[in-house]
Amino acid sequence: MRICFFDIDGTLIASGGAGQQAFAETFCQLFGVDQLSGEVPFAGRSDRAITMDLLEIHGCGTTAKDWERFHQEYTSRLPDALKESEGTVLPGVVNLIDQLQEAEGVEIGLLTGNVLAGAEAKLVHYNLWHHFAFGGYGDEHTDRSDIARSAVDAARRHLEVSSNDEVSGNGANGNDRFAVIGDTIHDIRCARAIGAYAVAVPTGLTPMEELLAAEPDLAIETLEEARPLVEWLMS
Ligand SMILES: [Mg+2]
Repeated sequence: MRICFFDIDGTLIASGGAGQQAFAETFCQLFGVDQLSGEVPFAGRSDRAITMDLLEIHGCGTTAKDWERFHQEYTSRLPDALKESEGTVLPGVVNLIDQLQEAEGVEIGLLTGNVLAGAEAKLVHYNLWHHFAFGGYGDEHTDRSDIARSAVDAARRHLEVSSNDEVSGNGANGNDRFAVIGDTIHDIRCARAIGAYAVAVPTGLTPMEELLAAEPDLAIETLEEARPLVEWLMS
């Protein structure tokens, strides 16, 4: 398998704050929280981890039922929040997706902290959803490395590849080559969990020097410069 996994926020798109707006509206509606604590970081983390931290810091319940209530309200509010926000598809994204889809034997997938319904809402809004047939999402896991492993499992199921071959090594293992593209150090770390080639882009909130400190395999200013990634996947 040769698979390039994409993060969503700050990597494929900038949602113009739509996600955080829908979070804030949901917490206000369900839990009476007027202003979300600024102490809980969003970038590079799973929706479930962010939600559990916010529920705890605001003294709300943290049961499975609370999570389900959050999930339902948040994903129903997200489409309108996206319409009200000024976001964009990030530079080079459409061209890179086209190149990878044309590349023989290369597949693309998602590896994101967004819940599946949130990922779908965001990428439908930006007309990218139809490109992605599988992925790992932030519905069940709080740890991004667990999401990475479930993204590989989803790829295997989609491509009907046996899971007998353990994934290891530095991005390449036998015929397997995985790459993970993301805008935070969490993306780089979770790439390591599946032995993937880590590509960092500072198109989210994390500056290049912080990304470089996490030692990605490739760091580029935008996905317009992703040629080395395409060549690595095809080599
Ligand atoms: Mg991101």
